[in-house]
This record gives sequence, structure tokens and C-alpha cells, in this order.
Amino acid sequence: MKKLLTCTFFIFLSTFTFSQNDISQLVATLLGDTPIEEDLQELCDKIGGRVTGAPSNAQAVEWGLQKFKTAGVSARKEAFTMPVLWLEKSTTARVSGDINFSPSVVSKYQSPPKKYRGELIYVGMGTAEEFEKVGAKVKGNFVLVEQDLCFNIDGLFAEYTSAAIAEIQARKYGAQGIVYMASRPKGLLYRFIGMKTSENDMPQIVMAREDAKRCIRILENGQLNIELNIDAEVGGEFISNNVIAEIKGSEKPEEIIIIGAHLDSWALGTGANDNGANVAMMIDIARQMKKLKIQPKRTIRFALWNGEEQGYFGSWAYTKDNLKSMDNHLMAMSIDIGSGAITGFFTNGNQELVSVVDKLLQPVAGLGDFTNINAPIVGTDNFDFMLQGVGNLVGNHKPQLYGQNYHASSDTFDKVDLKQLKVNSAIVAAVVLGFANMDKKEITWKRQTRPEIQKMFESFDLEFTMRMFNVWETWLSGERGRK
Ligand SMILES: [Zn+2]
Repeated sequence: MKKLLTCTFFIFLSTFTFSQNDISQLVATLLGDTPIEEDLQELCDKIGGRVTGAPSNAQAVEWGLQKFKTAGVSARKEAFTMPVLWLEKSTTARVSGDINFSPSVVSKYQSPPKKYRGELIYVGMGTAEEFEKVGAKVKGNFVLVEQDLCFNIDGLFAEYTSAAIAEIQARKYGAQGIVYMASRPKGLLYRFIGMKTSENDMPQIVMAREDAKRCIRILENGQLNIELNIDAEVGGEFISNNVIAEIKGSEKPEEIIIIGAHLDSWALGTGANDNGANVAMMIDIARQMKKLKIQPKRTIRFALWNGEEQGYFGSWAYTKDNLKSMDNHLMAMSIDIGSGAITGFFTNGNQELVSVVDKLLQPVAGLGDFTNINAPIVGTDNFDFMLQGVGNLVGNHKPQLYGQNYHASSDTFDKVDLKQLKVNSAIVAAVVLGFANMDKKEITWKRQTRPEIQKMFESFDLEFTMRMFNVWETWLSGERGRK
């Protein structure tokens, strides 16, 4: 008995040491010289911006697939259907009345291509009270909505929220369209989605901050009209592809840890911090694992999601296609907040995961200062896993240059913190491999049931946020998420 015990203990110890060795080897390799920088530069500079449905997006899919295959990692394309095609060709505006000039503008996603004309009506930040003051003047015209300056991710969420409040009011008062003042200075333009995402039917544009401020000053005592010309390639449903790479588990191949970053981007910039940097990270982690011949106990899937910017259509499709094996998906991780230092992970309404991730971060404790936060993130590819009740994480990062360049023409390769990206890769790799090699008894979280998910949404007061991204109704109707 004693001998058996010693023997069992020895085996346990050696397995443990073996997996810890794997983690430290992988971390060291990722921190060393790898092609992550070259990969990212190719994706950003050579392929460039890659809106789902554009030829550059299809090129990026082939590029991602080849990167995995060249590294010897098994990978495939997985097709899914996008609801509509919308590719902006150009948006121009002309302001006339008390002054005449052509402000710089860009359309929000799915603004119908057409020529428009109306009076420009200033509605402050676009709250219910401000709309009430302006009242009937809004009907059939364009409202000009002010925005606070955005510096970081909190600023982005504040902007999504205030823009959604203004959109609700604009529709209520019968506005023809919305002109949002850009939240970033110096003429910087960027693309957002509206509250109805792919079902939007209202022209909505972002106007350069300085141009919008000029209009507001004139409107204090004056009158202005706006003419808009939105030109876009539009169409119905079309096929897009995720890229799914896989390293099979040696002991529990049917159990899956999935980690992903989205390959698509808006095309004003070249999708560098959002999210080319983390696409390059996925490829580099898989490549170095393969190179080191690391065999995880569970299967690790590396996903390059597509159609994220329009409403996480690629990851949603994945959850539908893999519905039968959702119970076997133990963890779904998303990395989508740029290249600033990872400060921990959002555990998305699963308190149990906070201490689990704390423990998994221990081998890389020297690489950062980590605090995991149990808050649900709506707005990226973890979302449909959250709706399925699957344990899911989103990497949290220091703001670095993320917020101010978000979806903007300035989101280019030069904004990526390349040194930090490598450190982030090492952190993420340690957590992924930690999940894949975890002992059964350490898996203390469970897949949430539909009532548990609903209760979690209520406790975090998530309804407005989900409505803001057009995902509340589909959750309620059962079209999206766990039945
Ligand atoms: Zn993103």
C-alpha cells in the first residue's frame, strides 16, 4: 500500500512538473525571437483593412490558414452566413446655410447608400430632455449629436451608450438621420455600428470633431442644412469563413479549450490593435506549441473569427455549429483589447473563475500585475459562449493606444506595442495551456443553465447594453444562446 502510494505520488508529481515545464518552455520561447512581428506587419501593411465581405478579408482568411499550416498546425476554414453586405465606398457631406463648407465624414455600418438632404438640428448629447427641448423640429431632419472626448475603453463604452440613447430619441422624434460629432480630435474619423447593427435603416455618420464644433457654434444663432452622399456596395446574405486551428488533446481530446481573436476589421485603418495584433498572437502561440511538440491534455482550438465587427457573426455561427459539443467546451477565451499590458481577465459573470484564473496566472506572475474582474463583456467573440453558459474570458489590457485609435484611420501597425504583445502572448499561452492541462478536480466552474445566465444578466443589469448591440431580443426569443 505504502509502495503504491509513493508510486502514485511520484507519477502525479512528474505529470505536474511536466506540464509546468511545458508552460515555462512555451513562455520562454514566446518571449524569445519569433515571427509575430513580421506576421502582424504582413497582415496590416500588405493585406490591410479587411471588412468581412471585402476581397482583402478573403485574402486574410487564406493568409491565416496558411500561417497555421506552415507551422504544422492542423487548420481549416469554417463557412458561415453573414446577413448583409455593406462596404462603404465614400461618404461626402456639404453644409450650407449661414456658412458653406464640406466637413469630413464617414458612415456608420449599414447606413443605406443614397443622397440625403435636411436641416441640421443640434440636440446636445442627444438625451431625452435635450430632444424634448428641440421637439418637432427634428422630424425629417438630421440631428447633430455632441460626444465627449474618448481616451480609453471606458470612453468607448460611454460613447456606445450615449450614441444609443441619441439613436433611440432620433427614431422616436422621426429624424431622417444622425450626425455624430467624432469623439477624437484632429479630424480623426472612425466607424461604429448603430443599435440595429446589420438591420440599420437610418443614415448615421460621424463628422470630424472640429467640423462638428464649427457647426454647433454657427447653430447657436444660425441655420444650417446638410447634404449627404453615401455610396456603398450593398447586398444580401453571403458566405464568410472563420479559421479554426487545432492541437489535439492527448488525454481528453473531446474536451475543448478555445481561444480566439477576430481576423476582420473596419477598413479606415488596417486593423492593427483591433485586432491584428491578437490574431498574430494566436498564430504565434500555436506555432511555438507545435515547435516545442507540446501535447496538451485537452484539445486547444485557435480561432480567427470573422464578421466580428458587424455583430460577432463568426463566433455565433461556431456556437450553433458546435451546439452538440457545447458541454465539452470548458473554456472560451477572447483577446480583443489591443496590445497594452494584460492586467488580468474578465470572467464574464462567473465568479468561480476569478480564483481559477488567479492560479493559472501564477507561472507568469513576473510578467505583470494581474487582477481578474468578474464583469460580463458584451461586444466581442466571448459573447455567444456567454449566452451558451460556457465559461469564458476576455483579456483585459492597459489602455495604451487602443481607445483613441479604435476603428479609426489611425489603427495601424505603428500603434502596436510590439514588445508588450510578446509578453501578452506568453501570459495568454500560460493560461490556455493551464486550462488544457488542468486536473479534473480543479474544474470547479460549471456550464450555466439558461435561468442562471438570465439571472446573471439581471444581476449585472445588462439589458440596455445588450439592446445597444442588438442582441437582447435574439436572446429573449431563443434565436441566440442556450435554450
Ligand atoms: Zn475588436
